[in-house]
Amino acid sequence: MFKAILIEKDDNGYRAAIQELDEAMLPAGDVTVLVSHSTVNYKDGLAITGKGPVVRKFPMVPGIDLVGIVDESSHPDFKAGDSVLLNGWGVGEVHWGGLAQRARLKGDWLIPLPAQFTAQQAMSIGTAGYTAMLCVMALEKQGVKPSDGEIVVTGAAGGVGSVAIAVLSKLGYQVVAVTGRTADADYLKSLGAMEILDRSQFNAPGKPLAKERWAGAVDVVGSHTLANICASTKYRGVVTACGLAAGMDFPATVAPFILRGVTLVGVDSVMCPRPERIQAWRRLTTDLDVGKLEAISTEIGLAQAIPMAARLLNGEVRGRVVVDVNQ
Ligand code: NDP
Repeated sequence: MFKAILIEKDDNGYRAAIQELDEAMLPAGDVTVLVSHSTVNYKDGLAITGKGPVVRKFPMVPGIDLVGIVDESSHPDFKAGDSVLLNGWGVGEVHWGGLAQRARLKGDWLIPLPAQFTAQQAMSIGTAGYTAMLCVMALEKQGVKPSDGEIVVTGAAGGVGSVAIAVLSKLGYQVVAVTGRTADADYLKSLGAMEILDRSQFNAPGKPLAKERWAGAVDVVGSHTLANICASTKYRGVVTACGLAAGMDFPATVAPFILRGVTLVGVDSVMCPRPERIQAWRRLTTDLDVGKLEAISTEIGLAQAIPMAARLLNGEVRGRVVVDVNQ
């Protein structure tokens, strides 16, 4: 038997609760993992509360990422005792996820836990941090260099935003943080932000083109914020879009793209090919100051993940939430 958060949806409604489950209930897979840590990402918040259509199969164990030790494996790349890491691939959405003491997964989804990180550190980074790294790699791929100018990071005090600031500043970029939590300016500056802007300047309808400022952007907010960021991006600047914290809409015009040659790059972590995710995790071992993870993350036990989900969606949680599933 093992403990897990189980989400059920039936005539009695949508609910998430801690349950004791039999290992025989685990879904099919060629690797069984003794999970040590998972996290509460934005998507897990939507899954646990039912506020977004994340879960597409019931009952479901949420948790889109996990770290653990292989218990049994018939996959050629993994054997009992290996430390492994998982992000995405529909885990916690259509396949039972990491907010449990056991998981059975496809070995093709797993990557080795980088030796430089403890399980706790890897989950302090989690899917949010790995997505932040994918955004930075996308900026680099489009040729954005530190000497090109300022990079704006929205949703700055959240999970993706916090790690994006830490990585960009370590790489020498000048980072401007956009946040609703201007009272947390010291936190954002400690991560490496040079300037803090209130998000209220970005979340209302704006002009098709505004004064050119950003060489690059990491946007987790979507909606008017993403439109306004595109409108104020410099000639041939690059905007990476990975989130929808304010909405899925994109009320923009084509002006920044056709008049300023701005590039809008979509970033997805879930189905990202394995070589790129391994590269992103390798980059995190060198381009993120692990000393900053302590300020970024809070650790909780499995039962606390349920109330934490609602708090995260309400914007009450700073940085990342790591779940010790055995606590
Ligand atoms: P968090 O909840 O940790 O952070 C989101 C941040 O967005 C908040 O902290 C807040 O930042 C800001 N925010 C929230 N609501 C609003 C609003 N109404 N208007 C403006 N800003 C707002 O989430 P994550 O960092 O984990 O994820 C951020 C987004 O990225 C989510 O939409 C998530 O689904 C998406 N995501 C996408 C991935 C992908 O593969 N494409 C992978 C991971 C995440 P502040 O307090 O600083 O204002």
